[in-house]
Amino acid sequence: MVSSGAIQIPSRLPLLLTHEGVLLPGSTVRFSVDSPRNMHLVRERLLKGTSLKSTIIGVIPNTRDPEHDTDDLPTLHKIGTAGIAVQVVGSNWPKPHYTLLITGLCRFSVSSLLKERPFVLAEVKQLDQLERYTAPQRDATATDDGELGELSEKFYQAAVQLLGMLDMSVPVVAKFRRLLDSLPRETLPDVVASMIRTSNKEKLQVLDALSLEERFKKALPMLTRQIEGLKLLQKTRKMSPDNEKRVLVRKGTVFPGRQFNLDEEDEDDDGDDTAALERKVHGANMPEAALKICLKELKRLKKMPQSMPEYALTRNYLDLMVELPWSKSTKDCLDIRAARTLLDNDHYAMDKLKRRVLEYLAVRQLKTSLKGPILCFVGPPGVGKTSVGRSIARTLGREFHRIALGGVCDQSDIRGHRRTYVGSMPGRIINGLKTVGVNNPVFLLDEVDKLGKSLQGDPAAALLEVLDPEQNHSFTDHYLNVAFDLSQVLFIATANTTATIPPALLDRMEVLEVPGYTQEEKVEIAHRHLIPNQLEQHGLTPQQLHIPQSTTPDIISRYTREAGVRSLERKIGAICRAVAVKVAEGHTLTKTETLTPENSKHECFAVCLFSDKAAPPELPIVIDHIALKDILGPPVFEMEVSERLTLPGVALGLAWTPLGGEIMFVEASRMEGEGQLTLTGQLGDVMKESAHLAISWLRANAKTYQLTNMVGGSDPLEGTDIHLHFPAGAVTKDGPSAGVTIVTCLASLFSGRLVRSDVAMTGEITLRGLVLPVGGIKDKVLAAHRAGVKRVILPKRNEKDLEELPANVRANLDFITATNLGEVLNASFDGGFPGVSGTRAHPQLTSKL
Ligand code: ADP
Repeated sequence: MVSSGAIQIPSRLPLLLTHEGVLLPGSTVRFSVDSPRNMHLVRERLLKGTSLKSTIIGVIPNTRDPEHDTDDLPTLHKIGTAGIAVQVVGSNWPKPHYTLLITGLCRFSVSSLLKERPFVLAEVKQLDQLERYTAPQRDATATDDGELGELSEKFYQAAVQLLGMLDMSVPVVAKFRRLLDSLPRETLPDVVASMIRTSNKEKLQVLDALSLEERFKKALPMLTRQIEGLKLLQKTRKMSPDNEKRVLVRKGTVFPGRQFNLDEEDEDDDGDDTAALERKVHGANMPEAALKICLKELKRLKKMPQSMPEYALTRNYLDLMVELPWSKSTKDCLDIRAARTLLDNDHYAMDKLKRRVLEYLAVRQLKTSLKGPILCFVGPPGVGKTSVGRSIARTLGREFHRIALGGVCDQSDIRGHRRTYVGSMPGRIINGLKTVGVNNPVFLLDEVDKLGKSLQGDPAAALLEVLDPEQNHSFTDHYLNVAFDLSQVLFIATANTTATIPPALLDRMEVLEVPGYTQEEKVEIAHRHLIPNQLEQHGLTPQQLHIPQSTTPDIISRYTREAGVRSLERKIGAICRAVAVKVAEGHTLTKTETLTPENSKHECFAVCLFSDKAAPPELPIVIDHIALKDILGPPVFEMEVSERLTLPGVALGLAWTPLGGEIMFVEASRMEGEGQLTLTGQLGDVMKESAHLAISWLRANAKTYQLTNMVGGSDPLEGTDIHLHFPAGAVTKDGPSAGVTIVTCLASLFSGRLVRSDVAMTGEITLRGLVLPVGGIKDKVLAAHRAGVKRVILPKRNEKDLEELPANVRANLDFITATNLGEVLNASFDGGFPGVSGTRAHPQLTSKL
């Protein structure tokens, strides 16, 4: 109860601007706030404040249409209600917002705005004299104030009449009856207006009525209208007192310390609503345990007033429970022969992968169970991992859902938040199931190698539970708090590298490597898939745009450098867009202008593309080299290999990265000094050690190979400083496989001879000059091939890896397999390396695979 003059509102109030209803003194209203200013107010004032004063805020009705609400502060309504925030509830779902429960104290007017950001702060003047409400002054008012007394008495009597029409056995009604007598008359217009069915506009009129007399005058017709309405209802519908009660109570109001729902739009179908929900619960076909929980929650829900924050939480929970596909599934329609055709039609090359996928599907079909390892496609970006996953879903006739795991570092992302948390939500698995609406989709767990770890628990551990066929039939999401059977879900994972997949997770999966593509494969993929797809996406036809087979290799080698085909797809998209503009312009031109035959015959696309008044181009527009340059700009990548190897002290190595293989230059220079070695290019420890190994081996063998220092002495380091640099200096590099490249580079520096410009190499070295095998051969060779290298030197023991390479790559490259550094040097320099042929008996191995 707003009583006693003790409450003086502060003269500076933060203001809450709201579209939702009007707060009147003496009533309690629930406001949902999500605008930036209001959110700041809650965070910085209500949640941080510690005193009672800090919970007092001003509520100003925002009369601007929410549709047209902008960031600017609207003109403020001149009068507002100061209120105490009695409850603050935050939630992140469906978007971040707070729900505030505010009890109105008194009116105020805004004297001046102090600041607009981060929330509105204003100097205010208190309008209602709280002191006057100290005691019931029925008699005094009636006698002293003449007309006002009469009005207030009339109002009081009307309120008594209204209550008399309601069922007194309802505690709320009984309580209001009692309060009616004890409340000061002055408060009645506010309290009653917020209780009965009134529109926001009407409430605003009551709020704006500063003089008591006016307030009574404004509120009385509303009260009378309610009474008349009730009378009418009783007459026509023969309402039982029980129903009448709802008319009043559901529109609800306030007594100090109690609150009801004030929502104008609220339907009177609360009961029907829960009944419908109950029907849905029974119809959701959920397992016993889940049904039991739902019914329990439903029972609680029925007892809860709608305005309780928990009502919404429970309601959301139940809505999710009934929506989940407990027993809804699609029927698998697996036909291995059709699956093979579909996979082949969707994807060019990747034979090994497709074969393994078919085996996997065949076993699934024969065993009709999904137990078994989870397939994990590992390879550089853009090689079709996701796309194969999608095809698998199609072949099975199942729904497909991708769950991106990159950067997920909180286990509740997978397993959900407990419902006790504010803004709790189910995890991504349950959310995914809700989205697809069936319990047997194909889930693609994308980028399992990029799972993070944090204080909030290890998401990998949660994933393990999801993937483990022994456990996942009773996967318990924290939010649901009841088991959901995931055993029918087909999981497929993708990753760029296995190195960062948590070992326990890797253990559950069968890794299928998807290497990058060769230039020839890319050309095929482009013509069979990418170009037709892009044409369709841009609304073009082959009759309008033609990219000849001779242009594609140019796009691939001069505008992209990647293992997959994603940038290639983008470049083709760029060409389509440019052509689409031309074609569309041509359409409008032919409609608006009559064209002479000459000007419609521009041969060069460039003219068509850039001349202001282009005529419709002759169709199809053929993308030749000139057009390519016009659309995509000057080539981004040039064949730089041969250019870079024009000085002694440069060699070309091959590196492996999660994005595919790459060529890597190693540069060395020497200067007078004291035998120091400087290494630059962000090298890891292993790489640094390789450099030291290389120098030691060269020093030890300087005589054999006729290596000299700057002054012609036989110790290459004497009086000489050496600097080794690995360009692309910003990229961290590590690993032992650059060993042979460093040796070759230094041998070139010390001998003053040029390394062959078409050779690239990889291999680990030992102090004794042996060449040890390394990983990632396939990707590295593909990168060398992409870069136009002719000869690749690799460790002898890696020879077996060459078998996995496409035949055309093998045919185009000259492979030298080496067991020791002598062989490497011999193959790296034109005419062999001094000393090797004579003194060493290792024959040079050249295999053309
Ligand atoms: P990833 O998941 O490996 O990063 P995506 O599956 O997203 O790659 O593939 C990128 C694009 O390249 C997709 O449009 C896909 O259809 C296409 N693509 C990749 N490989 C092939 C292939 N072998 N045949 C046909 N299209 C392919």
